[in-house]
Amino acid sequence: MRLLRCPRCGEGKLYRGLLTIVDQCSACGLALKQHEQGDGPAFFGILLIGALAGIFAAIFEMKFAPPYWLHAAIWIPFILIGSIASLRLGKAALIAAQYRLRGEDFK
Ligand SMILES: [Zn+2]
Repeated sequence: MRLLRCPRCGEGKLYRGLLTIVDQCSACGLALKQHEQGDGPAFFGILLIGALAGIFAAIFEMKFAPPYWLHAAIWIPFILIGSIASLRLGKAALIAAQYRLRGEDFK
């Protein structure tokens, strides 16, 4: 199975733009839009990226004691990019899991 692709055929793209799920697969026509997961991927992304940013920032502060502008220059992009990446992966993983476990709902 290819990452961020249709769970049935592995060919059609799962996203239109950054975080919008396509209505249906462009390759096999599988209906995907109705399987938006709400806040599930965001919740797990916040837990993961928030924990990583907090731990790494604390270690960085204790080892190097950098100025605050350097913390901001590192951790703000880390959090933004990490949040978007974890949302994309989380949404794709939950759609794939739904397809595997409740494939009859994908009509
Ligand atoms: Zn497909």
